[in-house]
Amino acid sequence: MRIAATAPELRREIAALPRPLVLVPTMGALHEGHLALVRRAREKAGPAGTVAVSIFVNPIQFDRPGDLAAYPKPLEDDLAKCRDAGVDLAFTPESGAMYFPDRSITVTESLLSTHLCGATRPGHFDGVCTVVLKLFNLFQADAAVFGEKDVQQLAILRRMVRDLDVPVEIIGYPTVREADGLAMSSRNVRLTPEHRADAPRIRRALEGARSLLQFGERAAAPFLAAARKHLEESPFAQIDYLELVDAETLQPVGQIRKPAVLATAVFYGEVRLIDHVTLLP
Ligand code: AMP
Repeated sequence: MRIAATAPELRREIAALPRPLVLVPTMGALHEGHLALVRRAREKAGPAGTVAVSIFVNPIQFDRPGDLAAYPKPLEDDLAKCRDAGVDLAFTPESGAMYFPDRSITVTESLLSTHLCGATRPGHFDGVCTVVLKLFNLFQADAAVFGEKDVQQLAILRRMVRDLDVPVEIIGYPTVREADGLAMSSRNVRLTPEHRADAPRIRRALEGARSLLQFGERAAAPFLAAARKHLEESPFAQIDYLELVDAETLQPVGQIRKPAVLATAVFYGEVRLIDHVTLLP
């Protein structure tokens, strides 16, 4: 596996590597969810193509300094996992290698980012779009794989690529879960044992609400009420948001007439977890 830590090193490496090049952007602390994306990337690249992983805890997408400081950074473990997974190229820049101190250009999405995480994490998706566009440019990637777990991120990045004519194919991959249903996340290791034991409730709350569909329910309010009730029964969970939005525009809906997304972010102490279910009328 080749490793590059700066943009010039990366350019040298990719010039010598075979196409297609499929990129998996990550912030490291790799888990099975990330590795599933790597396997999907290999499927897309083929045995002779290049699978690349970027490991970069992007400072400009963090809205809470404490979250950035506490973000796990087990770089050596991550590189070993990449090697074992058959990754061809890892990019591990320091923050200084990615951003000029006087950088003055930011990519802003202005519709899909107005609710959900975009509403409660100011500037988050500007940071995501900016770094991902930079990564696409640096790697000249043919395709890139992203998790559906970050449903709003995936929709925004698809929109960015569409609106800015970025020549990269975006591939979504379903959420990988622990055996008890909790969505895998690099932040799960920061949960206390009590919080970890309670956290599968997030999935159950969303699935429980989704079951109302079978009874013909289409109004948004009962779905939101059912999920909220289950989350509020937790002695630990604090709801950051719980919203029912259109799957395409990510704007709130009052009635489910088209595919919709019931999404939540929940705090366990300082640790913020997200999950969602899709509702098909
Ligand atoms: P992160 O390192 O959290 O920025 O995530 C890097 C990529 O992995 C993003 O595309 C995420 O959506 C994806 N990802 C994170 N957790 C999961 C999961 N549990 N299942 C599938 N994809 C995931």
